[in-house]
This record gives sequence, C-alpha cells and structure tokens, in this order.
Amino acid sequence: MSNYANYINGQWVDSSKTTRNLNPADLSDVIGEFAQASEQDTQAAIAAARDAAPAWGLSTPQQRFDILDRAGSAILARKEELGKLLAREEGKTLAEAIGEAGRAGQIFKFFAGEALRQTGELVPSVRPGLTVEITREPVGVVGLITPWNFPIAIPAWKIAPALAFGNCVVIKPADLVPACTWELVKILVDAGLSAGVLNLVMGRGSVVGEALVNSPDVDAISFTGSVGTGRAIAQKCMATGKKVQLEMGGKNPMVVLDDADLPTAVEACINGAFYSTGQRCTASSRLIVTEGIHDRFVEAMVARMKQLRVGNPLDSETHIGPVVDDKQLKQDLDYIDIARSEGATVHGGELVELGTKGHFLQPALAVDTHNDMRINREEVFGPFASVIKVKDYDEALKLANDTEFGLAAGICSTSLKYVQHFKRHAQAGMVMVNVPTAGVDYHVPFGGRKGSSHGPREQGSYAKEFYTTVKTAYVNAG
Ligand code: NDP
Repeated sequence: MSNYANYINGQWVDSSKTTRNLNPADLSDVIGEFAQASEQDTQAAIAAARDAAPAWGLSTPQQRFDILDRAGSAILARKEELGKLLAREEGKTLAEAIGEAGRAGQIFKFFAGEALRQTGELVPSVRPGLTVEITREPVGVVGLITPWNFPIAIPAWKIAPALAFGNCVVIKPADLVPACTWELVKILVDAGLSAGVLNLVMGRGSVVGEALVNSPDVDAISFTGSVGTGRAIAQKCMATGKKVQLEMGGKNPMVVLDDADLPTAVEACINGAFYSTGQRCTASSRLIVTEGIHDRFVEAMVARMKQLRVGNPLDSETHIGPVVDDKQLKQDLDYIDIARSEGATVHGGELVELGTKGHFLQPALAVDTHNDMRINREEVFGPFASVIKVKDYDEALKLANDTEFGLAAGICSTSLKYVQHFKRHAQAGMVMVNVPTAGVDYHVPFGGRKGSSHGPREQGSYAKEFYTTVKTAYVNAG
C-alpha cells in the first residue's frame, strides 16, 4: 500500500501497485511509496472531471479567485518545506528548489487575478440592427502531462490557468517525481475545490498518459516533455479531435561576441549551461563564440567550472546537484564519449564520489566542436555544453538558427546594433540579452518555435489561448 494515494472524484484512492520515489543524491533516502493508477483509475478520474465540468465552468470568477489565491498563499507560506521536498526528489539545489516552489505560489496568485481580469468584446455588425459579442468559455476537461525536471513549477503553470479559466483537470505527473504534485493537489483540495474539479492520477505514461490522450472525454492535452513523446501525443490528439499544446526540448544557443563583457558572459553561460544540473529545456547547450574572445572565454569558463561544487542539494555549499537518475546519467556519459569520438576536447565530465550513493557528475564543457556534431544537434539534458568558434556575428547568427529547435536564444554583447539585430532574427520563442537562456518570469509567455513547441504559448495572459475557446454571438435586439 502507498503512503501517497491518487485523488479521484474528491477521494484519496489507493492502489496495490506503487512507485518508490528515491533521492538521487542519496539512494537510501526513500521519499515515499506513490500509488500507480491503472487505466480504470484514469477513466474514473476523467469521468469525474466530465461530471464536474458544467458546474465548475459556470462558477464565478470570485469563487475561482478565492481558491487559487488561497492555494498561492499556502504554497508561499510553505515554500521552504516544499523546496526541501523538491530538492530531495529531483536533485536541484535547495536554493533553486525553494525558488521554484515560490514561483509556483506566484503563478497561483497571478492566475487568481486572471480569473477576475477576463473580458469580452462587443463589435458592431456589418449588418444593420445586429451586434456581435465575442466571449471566451472553458475548453472543458483538460489532461495535463508533466516531466520530471520542474516537479512543482510545471504542474503549477498548467493547473493554475486550467482552473482559473473554468476547466476541470486530470493531471499525470512524471513517474520519477510525483511528490511535489501530490502536495500541490493536497493544497488545492484544502483550499476548497469541489469533487471532480481536480484529479491526480500518478503512474506510467504508457498507461495513464495513453488513457488520457486516447480518451474521447478529454477535450485538451497540455504536455511538457521530450520531442518523441510529444509528437506521438499530438498525432493521437488529432485523431480524437483534441486541442493540444506541446512544450518540448531545446538546443539553445548563447552567442558571445568579441565586444561582450567577459565576466557577464561567463556567468551567463555557467548558469545557463550547468545550474539545475543542466536539466532545463532552456539550458544554454551551444556556446557560439567569436574568434577574438574565444580563447579568453574558454580559459575563464574552465577556471570558473573548477569552482563549482557538485554535492548534496541540501548542503548550502553545493552549486550543482545530482543527475536525476541512472538512466539520465548514462545518457550524459554517453554524450561525453560521443563528444570525444567526434573530435572534441572535453573539460570536466568526471563522475564524483561522495559520502552517499547518488548520481553525481562534474559539469562538462566540450571545446573545438562544430555545429554539425551530434552533441550540437541532439538534446543532452545534463550538465554538458559545447563551444563553437565562429568568425563573426553573421556566422554566429547563422549557426544559432541552424537547429531543429527554437525555444530560447541568447546573446552577450555590448553592441546595440548586434543585440537589436539578434532579437529580431533569432528563430526562437524567447531571446535573452546578457542574461542566461534559462530563468524566466512567471507572468509573461513561455514557449518556442520549430521543434520545441506546438500550439499556443503557456503562462502569462497568453495562457488563455489554450485554456479557453472563443464564442462569437450575433444578437438582433430589435
Ligand atoms: P518524457 O517525454 O519521457 O515524459 C514526459 C511525460 O510524458 C511524463 O509524465 C511521461 O510519463 C509521459 N509519457 C511518456 N510516454 C507517454 C505516452 N506514450 N503517452 C502519454 N504520456 C507519456 O520526458 P521526461 O519526463 O523524460 O523529460 C525530459 C524531456 O522533457 C527533455 O527532453 C526536455 O527537453 C523536455 N522538457 C521540455 C520542457 C519545455 O518546456 N520545453 C520543460 C521540461 C522538459 P513517465 O513519467 O511515466 O515517463
């Protein structure tokens, strides 16, 4: 039996099958046994959401504001405790984890306000005597499928807008990190949600995720995860007529020009490439550096990397926590080998032995690379980045855009001319100037282009594009 049950139709529902959630920094630390939902459990959750949808869809903005605002306050009041849980289950440092928990609280506060800020449009008709009203309504039942790398922020930035705009929810967190989502759901239940409005089904993507995606009773799927899974989900959503939103991977460039302020560029690249153990879809994985600053940049990066302490995330001295699990660690090590076999020189990238059994890896920087190497085409998703030397800005921009992804792109430069040009011509959903490619605000749109994203943006006021559907009404009042 589990310590942590699923939440279906207002009840905590146990399961005979469980997943054991382990701390990647200390495999002897068991965070808990989490119920694994079956396909039948998932169908029950979908049916409960369907039943609850008419009433919740007609709830007042004040009712939705009150619940989301209470949840936001509860998360903020408990952000240290939730951050510690997050650091234990996913491995990012305590400071990063507390920051992520705080962000989840702010997201609920923001979307509480969004529930009140909804408006429509009244448009004169082209025909005499008619007026046209344009309003937004909830989509209905929304299935949310989340990855392991932001265990509280990503569930928050999907659940909060879904509820704010009057949808009922069935959420499936990543099997590797269910604890933070479980706590989030508990907070929302305690904040006063009625039965069926929010349902939690933990378990495997191949069982729970598939059931959500294939169900004719789910109106929309919002997914964050890998490209392969995302594309397969999109096809199934198309087949069952669902609205779909995908946030997938990145191979984000950070361009460093000769005129960059070197310390600013190095800090942006160290943070963007290696913080959160490089396990961020917005990580700076391709450092594209012009030849006049290249050697000084590499020397400064390697020196700075030696100061980074890999360790237990709960230790305040730690800069880089463990890799999330053995599978991801193997993938990171494989790419380090691939880098060498492709002719790159790799600085760092050694396994680290500590007092506890965990997945510790030193950050790795591959130099003497070119953009056609596999390490510069495929997402590694670990503390790994490569440096690509280029002649000038034009070549840097060309290579920055020479990727199948388009999530974030950065530039370090003191030249207004190049910065302005890059902002306009980088083929990415988000552009960063003299700041890391990773690290975004919670009240503005998030998402990318090309292979990184599909469908409307997440977060900020743009979230309503996915979580509502537009109605146009023609009225003859005469
Ligand atoms: P996956 O694509 O493996 O999994 C994401 C989610 O999908 C998990 O909950 C998973 O379940 C579920 N899933 C797996 N198979 C199916 C299926 N057949 N049908 C429905 N759901 C399924 O990604 P990871 O969790 O491993 O996350 C890492 C990847 O996510 C990286 O490639 C990264 O780039 C990307 N990512 C993108 C972000 C963005 O915003 N652009 C943000 C964060 C990550 P289970 O847990 O059982 O595997």
